[in-house]
Amino acid sequence: MSISLNLADIRQRIRTAAEKAGREPSSVRLVAVSKTRPAADIVEAFQAGQTVFGENYIQELAAKLDQLQEAVEWHVIGNLQSNKVKYIAGRVALIHSVDRLSLAEEISRQWGKLGKICDVLIQVNISGESSKSGTTEEGALQLVRECAQLPNIRVKGLMTMPPFFDDPEAARPYFAELFRLSRTIDAAGIPAVEMRELSMGMSGDFEAAIQEGATLVRVGTAIFGER
Ligand SMILES: *Cc1c(COP(=O)(O)O)cnc(C)c1O
Repeated sequence: MSISLNLADIRQRIRTAAEKAGREPSSVRLVAVSKTRPAADIVEAFQAGQTVFGENYIQELAAKLDQLQEAVEWHVIGNLQSNKVKYIAGRVALIHSVDRLSLAEEISRQWGKLGKICDVLIQVNISGESSKSGTTEEGALQLVRECAQLPNIRVKGLMTMPPFFDDPEAARPYFAELFRLSRTIDAAGIPAVEMRELSMGMSGDFEAAIQEGATLVRVGTAIFGER
C-alpha cells in the first residue's frame, strides 16, 4: 500500500467514526506520526494533502525542519527534555507532551525570547503505569493552573497514551476518562485556558478515541507502515 492510499483509508475511517459518534468529521484532525521516517515519506504524504505531522525525537525533528521546504504544521508528541526545547523554539505549532512545570517554564522562556506564544497540551498518565510519562490525573488541574501563569504558553487541552492492548475497546475507558478530566478542568474556568483539544488514539485505536471525543489522533504505522 502506498502512503497516499493509506492516508485516504485513514481519512475515511476517521469520517465514519466521527459520524457514528454524531460528530462533525472536521472536528477531528489527523496528526501523521513521521518519527524514524525519511523526509521523502513526509513529502509524499504532504503531496497527498496531509499537513500536520508529529515527531518524537527533537534531533530528528530539527533535522527535518531544516530539510523540508513544505508548509508543514509540526507537532511534538514525545517526551521532551527541557534542554532540547531551544532547538525547536518558535518552529512547532503544538507540543502535546507537557507533563511538568519545569518543562512548561522552559518552553515559555524560549518562546518568550522570540516574542511568541506556544500552544501546548498537558499529557496525563491516566493508567498510572510507571512506564508512561504524563502528570498524574490528580495533579493535572494544578499543573494547568501553574501553566496558566506563564506568559508565553497557552494550554489548549489534554493528551494521553493508554496502555497497549490488542483490543482497541480495552483502551476506551482511558479515553473516556481523559474526556471527563478535560470537562472537570474546563469547569474550573481558569483564565486563558481552553480545553478544546483532546489528543488521543493511535493506529490501533483511533476510532474508539474519536467516539470518546478525540480532536487530534496520532497515527504513524497505519500511514507509513511498520517502523
Ligand atoms: C509513535 C507514536 C504514535 C503513533 O503510533 P502508531 O501506533 O504508529 O500509530 C502516537 N503517539 C505517540 C506519542 C507516539 O510516540
